[in-house]
Amino acid sequence: MRLLHDWEYTTITIEALVKAIQEGITLPPRPIMITFDDGNLDNYTNAFPVMQKYGFNGTLYVVGTYIGAPQYMNVEQIKEVARAGWEIGSHGMTHPDLEKLDLQTQNYEIVDSRWYLENKLGLPILTFAYPFGVSSCGVNNIVYKAGYIAGMSIGATPDQCKSELYNLHRFVVKGVYGLNRFASLLPWWGDLFFLPTETPAPVNTPVPAQ
Ligand SMILES: [Zn+2]
Repeated sequence: MRLLHDWEYTTITIEALVKAIQEGITLPPRPIMITFDDGNLDNYTNAFPVMQKYGFNGTLYVVGTYIGAPQYMNVEQIKEVARAGWEIGSHGMTHPDLEKLDLQTQNYEIVDSRWYLENKLGLPILTFAYPFGVSSCGVNNIVYKAGYIAGMSIGATPDQCKSELYNLHRFVVKGVYGLNRFASLLPWWGDLFFLPTETPAPVNTPVPAQ
């Protein structure tokens, strides 16, 4: 988070990205979306305070039946994070592989979870993250019909585009990744001083500012 801050990234919600794509609203410089799936309690105890410190917001994708379970965030914690400017989205009711379900169960996971979360949390639920990043045309279509404005997938590029609003790209970032590996995912770089010196910088240094 300190690296992102020092390299002048600005966090945006998925809703802001969709508005930029659909309506052409201007995004801040070096926009980045930081998302967390499943609603684990450490998102609240660890990530939230660190991100608050740097003025960052993120997006939480919560699972209907996980809310309030041991080691998962409860309603009050999710609401507190939302009050700080975070976006809350749906990650289904039970976190299944959506492709393997029949249509009725897919509707339960996608359509009903939106209604369920909006009522339980008292917040708008505008975007959906596919469990395991897995979806299909049929699944994307249900997400669209349920009124979500976007679907979050996993991708290999930081670019986003209108034709893929229901397959927006995300990089998986694991706790074991070192700072250099993390930085290699970023489209804009800043002072290399912030990277560990023991590892040589990647040969393919991306173009500086936009
Ligand atoms: Zn998940």
